[in-house]
Amino acid sequence: MQFACEQCGASVDFAGVSSAACPYCASPSVVERAPAPGRALPSFVLAFTSDEARARTTLGTFLGRRRWFSDGAIARAQVSGLRGVYVPAYLYSAVARTTYSASIGEHYEETEETTSTDASGKTTTSTRTVTRTEHCPLAGLHVGYVTDVVVSGSAGLGDDELQRVEPFDLRQLRRHAPAIISGWIAEDFARDQAACLARSRTEAMDSIGTRLRRFMPGDNHSDLTWSTRLEWEGMEPILVPMWIAAARYHEDKPPLRVVINGQTGAVHGEIPISWLRVVLAVLLLVGLGAAIYVLTRHGR
Ligand SMILES: [Zn+2]
Repeated sequence: MQFACEQCGASVDFAGVSSAACPYCASPSVVERAPAPGRALPSFVLAFTSDEARARTTLGTFLGRRRWFSDGAIARAQVSGLRGVYVPAYLYSAVARTTYSASIGEHYEETEETTSTDASGKTTTSTRTVTRTEHCPLAGLHVGYVTDVVVSGSAGLGDDELQRVEPFDLRQLRRHAPAIISGWIAEDFARDQAACLARSRTEAMDSIGTRLRRFMPGDNHSDLTWSTRLEWEGMEPILVPMWIAAARYHEDKPPLRVVINGQTGAVHGEIPISWLRVVLAVLLLVGLGAAIYVLTRHGR
């Protein structure tokens, strides 16, 4: 049975899970709705490797971690609705054909002789080694595979949030079967595939830039420019495992959302900053500065 959240728009299948709240925004207003026609269907799944007890431990450790400027109430936050969700995503792949040019710097050492004359008229000669750099132009073609770009296709979990708990071990991808996801909440593909493709290309280009910089020979390089053509592009609809929790730390503030990668245990949440603590730290520093100033003046 398919349900739609009236607050965040996520369309979820509770698959036997007894719950009446949206796993993403905890809104209780979910209404029964027929699956959207023409929606993408997952062809591969990354299965959960952790159970709820382990996710709860990860969450507790994350919330209890001491941070300098975070709100102290976080450590005493009430966790409500920790849910395991199969989140829809696209696995993008392509062949990237890149032509590039750069200036490659090669270090070499030279011995320099210096002669100096001191006050008594005695001259001394000393040698020292200096490092110089020789530059030469380099241009070429770099061909590589892009195989690990995963972008969110979810209405409830944005791509930025997903990226914070990546990477996944994609070697564990299995062909989708209802048995894998039974007993878990699964969300339907919600994002426009064309928009996801554009986002994937951006992420692919970023990773090509990083790879190309690492590929450059020599001791350093400058003026690196490149242009890439993406060929043989593929967009595979997949499901990725994610724990999503809402932690209420203050009565009149929205709950803190924490996401945990259901495969690797990587965790992310935007811990709110306590401005009171920031102000106190600044005052303390100013006070310390003043004290040191006064003390050193007295010392003279
Ligand atoms: Zn919702």
